[in-house]
Amino acid sequence: MSITVHQFPCLSDNYGFLVRDDATGKTACIDTPDADAILAELAKLGWSLDMVLNTHWHPDHAGGNARLKAETGCTVVGPAEVERIGTAPDRVVDEGDSVALGETTFVVINTGGHTLGHIAFYDAADGAAFVGDTLFALGCGRLFEGTPQQMWTSLQKLAALPDAVTVYCAHEYTASNARFALSVDADPGLKARTDAIFAARERGEWTVPTTIGLEKATNPFLRAPLLRPDIADPAEAFGAVRAAKDSFHG
Ligand code: ZN
Ligand code: FE
Repeated sequence: MSITVHQFPCLSDNYGFLVRDDATGKTACIDTPDADAILAELAKLGWSLDMVLNTHWHPDHAGGNARLKAETGCTVVGPAEVERIGTAPDRVVDEGDSVALGETTFVVINTGGHTLGHIAFYDAADGAAFVGDTLFALGCGRLFEGTPQQMWTSLQKLAALPDAVTVYCAHEYTASNARFALSVDADPGLKARTDAIFAARERGEWTVPTTIGLEKATNPFLRAPLLRPDIADPAEAFGAVRAAKDSFHG
């Protein structure tokens, strides 16, 4: 059992991911930020698309569904909310469902908060999690639809995965997340990580993927209860850090 993940930047700051089951060659794309870019990457690699795995309904995640389905005949798998973009998924999935891609299995984790029905896809055998706009390197998604309590619960599910799990986030927001993190957290481990991040971005390098262990150690949203010891409830502490980021101009 193994997968090959092909990552590529698209739109202004999204990442596209093509995931290939090595045993069978079955290929999925995680979200559909840009159908043209995805088709171009597939052609470059000589891969054909079998499946779309959507994390949530936003246009920069599901906007290419109809075109990719028409061009490739792929199956669209995602949360029910994807219907809001125009077409319902062929298969609606939620918490605890399994999705097979050849010999690879993705377990669906409900990570509502950024949108109400947001999901993540976790391949335990390969230690890979595709988390959409729930968890970012040093960040987390904005609460467009859900409550702090819902998002905190979702983030805790991801934090409970093994530290070594590779986390594929859908955006390159890391430098701006790092500036905010430094404003709320004096941890030396964070400082070391942000120095490396700013240097990597100067060189034009990607800071995604990350890992669960790195995020647990340095992500201010996962560390919210430590950063706000004045707030007893962890979800409320998280909500306070999230609100601070929403109004942060750094
Ligand atoms: Zn989104
Ligand atoms: Fe997004």
